[in-house]
Amino acid sequence: MRRSLKDGDFRLLYQPIIDSKGETMVGVEALCRWRHPVRGETPPSDFIAIAEETGLIDQLGLFVLRQACLDARKWPGVIVSVNVSPRQFKEERFPEAVLKILGETGLEPSRLELELTETLAVVDLDLARTKMLVLQNHGVRIALDDFGSGHSGLSYLLSLPFDKLKVDRMFVSHIESSSASAVIIHAIVNIGRALGMHITAEGVETAEQQQFLRGAGVHFFQGFRFSRPVDASEILSRLQAQ
Ligand code: C2E
Ligand code: MG
Ligand code: MG
Ligand code: MG
Repeated sequence: MRRSLKDGDFRLLYQPIIDSKGETMVGVEALCRWRHPVRGETPPSDFIAIAEETGLIDQLGLFVLRQACLDARKWPGVIVSVNVSPRQFKEERFPEAVLKILGETGLEPSRLELELTETLAVVDLDLARTKMLVLQNHGVRIALDDFGSGHSGLSYLLSLPFDKLKVDRMFVSHIESSSASAVIIHAIVNIGRALGMHITAEGVETAEQQQFLRGAGVHFFQGFRFSRPVDASEILSRLQAQ
């Protein structure tokens, strides 16, 4: 992994995030890919955890953030979302590191969104809140990713100032097969909206799911129904086409 970081074997794909009408690409999520010199194309589920354990996530995370900011400069008006691992966020100087990269790349802070997950395992809520506020005061937005998949989501909403909730794919994938799933999505949207947050549904694959989610009041869609993750040049041509 260390060698791959030097050799440029990591790259980013971007998955479009679409408005509630299902028409316009308003954002993209950066998703990391590793072309392993021996094993070939390797998904993040096989390397993010290892990067966390070994501490290499710091270096990988900075690469991802810098590359996403550089690419986003070519996409006027589009918000770029970047996943942040728990270990990265725990770094004392995480907000400063993000602001430094924004300064160096020249991306307006309001075009960056950071995604934190429920697995954050926040020990010190006051400290986490302070870090979030430093970034938000500069215009950076912060989303709670995979909402509903962990067990801390609701307690985080009590004390941490998220701008957005991303409904976990698990709920979306069960919309048609489980009435409980539909009820839970309605509840998540109600909570999010009442707290003044935007809601994104991830893993939207079918027209039926899109229709249900729109009716439920979801603001943004992400999923294979609209697009798989694609490379930066493809995002540019789609923007030019729209
Ligand atoms: P995530 O942040 O929840 O990202 C969404 C994942 O769902 C992506 O998987 C995406 O390809 C997949 N996805 C999107 N739409 C659909 C759909 O309609 N159907 C299905 N079946 N899947 C869909 P991916 O790229 O394999 O990434 C998996 C996870 O790895 C991400 O989940 C994120 O937690 C983590 N990850 C990816 N890139 C990074 C990174 O640069 N840094 C960190 N810390 N984590 C990352
Ligand atoms: Mg994410
Ligand atoms: Mg997600
Ligand atoms: Mg997810």
